[in-house]
Amino acid sequence: MTWETIIGLEVHVQLLTRSKMFCGCSATFGDPPNTHVCPVCLGLPGALPVPNELAVRLAVRAACALGCTVHRRSLFARKNYFYPDLPKGYQISQFEEPLATAGALEFVSEQRGPVTIGIRRLHLEEDAGKSFHDRVPGMTAVDFNRSGVPLVEIVSAPDLRSPAEARAFLVALKAVLRYLEVSDCNMEQGSLRVDANLSVRRAGDPELGTRTEVKNLNSFSGVERALAFERDRQIAAVGRGEAIEQRTMLFDASSGAVRPMRSKEESHDYRYFPEPDLPPLVLVSGLLEEERCKVGELPSAKHQRFMREYGVSAQDAGVLTAHRRLADEYEEEVRLGADPRETANWFINVGLSHTDAAALEKVMLQVHDEEFTTGKQRIVPWPPGVVRDAIEALRRGELSHQAAKKVLAELAARKRSDVVRMAQELGLIQLRDEAQTEVWVRETLAAHAGEAARYRRGETKLLGFLVGQVMKRSQGKADPKAVSAALTSALEGSVGRQ
Ligand SMILES: [Zn+2]
Repeated sequence: MTWETIIGLEVHVQLLTRSKMFCGCSATFGDPPNTHVCPVCLGLPGALPVPNELAVRLAVRAACALGCTVHRRSLFARKNYFYPDLPKGYQISQFEEPLATAGALEFVSEQRGPVTIGIRRLHLEEDAGKSFHDRVPGMTAVDFNRSGVPLVEIVSAPDLRSPAEARAFLVALKAVLRYLEVSDCNMEQGSLRVDANLSVRRAGDPELGTRTEVKNLNSFSGVERALAFERDRQIAAVGRGEAIEQRTMLFDASSGAVRPMRSKEESHDYRYFPEPDLPPLVLVSGLLEEERCKVGELPSAKHQRFMREYGVSAQDAGVLTAHRRLADEYEEEVRLGADPRETANWFINVGLSHTDAAALEKVMLQVHDEEFTTGKQRIVPWPPGVVRDAIEALRRGELSHQAAKKVLAELAARKRSDVVRMAQELGLIQLRDEAQTEVWVRETLAAHAGEAARYRRGETKLLGFLVGQVMKRSQGKADPKAVSAALTSALEGSVGRQ
């Protein structure tokens, strides 16, 4: 018996803004509990919400990237339910008239090749607070810092056909949203959350089976594991002739199992109605067009083009196109005349080692400030042209590879851009002085007489080691090619003499 698995996803993504959706409180993650709260996000009587323009812009940008129809007029609605971390008793969301509908996301499925997955809708909403059941013994603690943080909910069509495909969809979605600086999509910090609907049917059956909703999916691998578990559970049940009950299931990451929620937890009737405190959301003239322009070439297309146009490896192209600003900085350097493959190497292996993940997220956030203020920050730690200058100095033989690495690291640390002067100051300009090279070679062979003797007995692979020792002795100033030649002639030419 062949079975078909039908999966649809609902993805909640936190928008990369400094402040919340309807008030000026900070949206920062990880600060002490209840330090970013005000009457609006605590839902105190009489407080009125005011929409965050940047959140609206980022949602529009995401919708454009997903090829959605963006509606110039949409409606905020109240989603009513009771929970201790929801002080208002409702979440402001969008229901009947969402911001965007009818889009698609393309990616390559391992089983089916290139696939296009429908996006049914994308709407704006605010997050709820967070309950902690393990902080205070016997009690539940509530943190409202999250309350009112801006989100988009992205709902896919039930077009996914396996747990692995669901995971690939999320990877592709994350790549687009991060690239466009819509969200950092950090699952550990809750800025990307997934609920999934899954049903199974016998292959060829035109009717859809009864679906269940799986919640509490905290990682991409968790999504895949939970959906595989739920698929197998449904197939086994249907195989035994049992009916699938439409209900909400919870994934337990530690056991890998999926269990039904208590029915009290899942009973919900949200009684949506239009938000009386907010007028319809009408996009001002030009906003949609501006955000559409910012989308441009998507990361998957850029990835392919970088490989084709610049001859960089798939892996390097992946790193360079993960952030739009990094991709732009790379192309700018190449336009200034730098060798594309060398530039990729220096950007990735030296440039990004100065920029840790947290710093990168910070840069992403500053991008949005920049839209309203001035000032520019780069992802690679050098101004344009520095990597090109270093590559040229290498080519001229003034710098060894090792020395270039040192010079670039120093320039980054001291925020300078003068490659040759820095190399001079550090005494790293490569010596073409043959006599000096001979001295280093002689000293090295004397210090490593054992290795030299083994080399002469045929262990020629020790040459690399000896070259390294000479380079070390020269403090990176020697030219490795000249060293290699001098060593070879010293070792093979006059045996035993020094
Ligand atoms: Zn607030």
